[in-house]
Amino acid sequence: MEEVIGANLRAVGARIEAAARGAGRQAGSVTLVAVSKTQPQSAVRAALTAGQRVFGENRVQEALEKFPGLRNAFPDMALHLIGPLQTNKVKDAVAHFDVIETVDRLRLAEALAREMERTGRRPHCLIEVNTGEEPQKAGILPAAADEFISDCRDRLGLPIDGLMCIPPHDEEPSLHFALLREIARRHDLPVLSMGMSADFETAVRFGATHVRVGTAVFGARQPYPAAAK
Ligand SMILES: *Cc1c(COP(=O)(O)O)cnc(C)c1O
Repeated sequence: MEEVIGANLRAVGARIEAAARGAGRQAGSVTLVAVSKTQPQSAVRAALTAGQRVFGENRVQEALEKFPGLRNAFPDMALHLIGPLQTNKVKDAVAHFDVIETVDRLRLAEALAREMERTGRRPHCLIEVNTGEEPQKAGILPAAADEFISDCRDRLGLPIDGLMCIPPHDEEPSLHFALLREIARRHDLPVLSMGMSADFETAVRFGATHVRVGTAVFGARQPYPAAAK
């Protein structure tokens, strides 16, 4: 497993680099977030051994179970929360994640601001934008994004670095990447988290600073057990 994951990481890294160069960007301007949700600790350890340092997890509880030992062994690693965050998990999220990519509603933003104030720990935050305006999907609607970004940054004082999006499965992703980039540009936000296994090269061409890649690094995922929340 270790060799396969190492080879996958090198291959994905080379594709990111080629896409960046092709777009006239510096090779090092894109960070690979290796999405390790549902993958065992051994797979994450293999990626760490191969030199990968930035990981994405969807669920706070799963990350808490998987990472503490790994963090001790690799103190320079960074953990991104890329799944929906419930307000009752804010405390754990602020304590254990380095970046929270899914700030998407006022109540959550307020809870994060309170917890950061209380603890003094300030993980970087991204605002998730529902660029496809899909009712079942998390994220602030594009029409509400400007006001929400200002609220988070100026009124609540959250450390907002940028935006993230998950385009609809069945649509050309470039339009969504371009929209996200445009909203970020209006607010001078430097970070764009966009692009997954199927479309990360396109995302890089549209300015992604972070691509979130799971399957192309770790292989197919085990589905979550149906009973799990
Ligand atoms: C699972 C997931 C990914 C990675 O998806 P792959 O297609 O396996 O690369 C990226 N972003 C988010 C938000 C995810 O939930």
